[in-house]
Amino acid sequence: MCGIVGYIGTQKAEPILINGLLRLEYRGYDSAGIATIENNGIKNIKNKGRVNDLLSVKGIENLKGTIGIGHTRWATHGKPSSENSHPHLDNSNTFAVVHNGIIENYAELRKDLESKGYHFLSETDTEVIPNLIHYFYNKSNLQGELKFLSAVNETCKMLKGSFALEIISSDYPDSMIVVRKDSPLVIGTSPTEHYISSDIPAILSFTKDFYLLNDLEFAYLSRNSIKFYDSALQEISKTATSIEWSAAAAEKDGFEDFMLKEIYEQPKSIRETIGSHIIKDGKCIIDGLDLSKEYLQTINKIFIVACGTAMHAGLACKTVLEQICEISTEVDIASEFRYRNPLINKNTLCIFISQSGETADTIAALKLAREKGAKTIAISNVIGSSISREADYTIYTHAGPEIAVASTKAYTAQIMLLDILALYLAETLEINLDKVEIIKKELLEIPSKVEECLALAPEVKEFANKVYKEKDIFFLGRGLDYSSSLEASLKLKEISYIHSDAYAAGELKHGPIALIENGITVIGILTVPHLVEKTVSNLQEVITRGAKTLIVTNQDLGDKKFDKVIRIPEASEYVSPILSIIPMQLFAYYISKEKGLDVDKPRNLAKSVTVE
Ligand code: GLU
Repeated sequence: MCGIVGYIGTQKAEPILINGLLRLEYRGYDSAGIATIENNGIKNIKNKGRVNDLLSVKGIENLKGTIGIGHTRWATHGKPSSENSHPHLDNSNTFAVVHNGIIENYAELRKDLESKGYHFLSETDTEVIPNLIHYFYNKSNLQGELKFLSAVNETCKMLKGSFALEIISSDYPDSMIVVRKDSPLVIGTSPTEHYISSDIPAILSFTKDFYLLNDLEFAYLSRNSIKFYDSALQEISKTATSIEWSAAAAEKDGFEDFMLKEIYEQPKSIRETIGSHIIKDGKCIIDGLDLSKEYLQTINKIFIVACGTAMHAGLACKTVLEQICEISTEVDIASEFRYRNPLINKNTLCIFISQSGETADTIAALKLAREKGAKTIAISNVIGSSISREADYTIYTHAGPEIAVASTKAYTAQIMLLDILALYLAETLEINLDKVEIIKKELLEIPSKVEECLALAPEVKEFANKVYKEKDIFFLGRGLDYSSSLEASLKLKEISYIHSDAYAAGELKHGPIALIENGITVIGILTVPHLVEKTVSNLQEVITRGAKTLIVTNQDLGDKKFDKVIRIPEASEYVSPILSIIPMQLFAYYISKEKGLDVDKPRNLAKSVTVE
């Protein structure tokens, strides 16, 4: 995910682009750049770092062009660096492009362009785009605007994946083309100038009238006109919509908080994680990972090491790794692991998970594992983060920037990636291939099942509103539902400040049941078929002692008398943790809202824990 901004009009573009980029920085902030057209040539200035680092580049304030494009990047392909920053130009410096999204087939496109004599200056997927435009442009017999438009259209036909693009050309110094597919882009308009952006608030101070593009619709912009085309390049008409939002509300796409926005982004973020790694030609391929069967046959132990929510993602995948890969798997807390002298050697495979890639304890644990001779895989959401410099392999979740301190979409993307990793290992080992096929199919269905879970929000909210004043809330589950309970409990305490604990339901009688008193709230998660009856019995024990119960399940629980049952879609136990956590994220969110707390920035917590 990144932010793109554009301007075409009569004013100097540079300050307008910078203003937009600063507002879009929440979407990506590892590098930034702008390009304008001056004296019929493209001036391109970019830098690693935040928009303020771009402002420190000499000469930026001298850009005079009144047409320009800008980008603030959240790297998906290629580390954050000046070369990988956008805008990207073609080899002849005729076309400049900014891109938000992922080009899934960039490797083959790049190879093909290289065979035609094109060379590449960056590691990005994006750089194929200006070069493809140049290729089609040179081949075309068309003239004028249509020649430019058709080269862009031919290029889009070649691209698999998601993109929002702004394109300027030194051959068309008074024009810009924009197009989108599965990535956001809006056009703010007025009679003599137009503003383009990834979201409305970045340009809301300039105009309130917007055109919205559907997938694969093109806008050809000049200073005093905009023409719209469909993918057959037939001109289409569009009406501008007037936006009444306040800038602050719009920054969150209309959601009240980043956390809620991120909860609702999960179908998309999980799709991105799947799309970036599986499934090519029916096989699991993990970008950045290359382990041989011979090596994996020497592995007798897997460690998953992480902190907080990321550690819970590890717990959610322990079973699938053990069952599908037939390798004993242990999950550990990084701050414990690093000081307990764990038994590790070259036959151990260690996986470290950190959303930010900067978690101090996790990085220290990784270094320790390497010293002891283990191979290390880091799972991170941030390309080029510190952990990637330490690990043998780094694989990315591609969930997009997570702004809310309490992790939601990064957690489900981590589980998805660990599941894909389990399938990859089993496929490489050539074991349990029938089970692999079943789970693969299931994983592909997860995004739409997550959408079904999100539709349960009103029911969850209703229950949350009944119990938000509680002092203690307990969670119970067995097996994988216990790991989901731990995460549900953590989410609740993080943002509601309600004391909460999660117990393996079988442990209840060994102590915690002493805490159950009349009126207390107990939440049960029940998705593992062979454990359902056992957990139901434990819940019966708390009901008998006066507890109110909320149940999250995909099982038929008959006529059992619970206060509320939230029914989530059916799925095998391997993948159900991704689904059962969705209502629990919403539950924590609604309780926090009802209590009037700052959901996105809970007290005492930081997004990235870079100290011990
Ligand atoms: N895939 C592109 C890159 O890595 C764009 C990423 C983004 O949307 O920021 O450069």
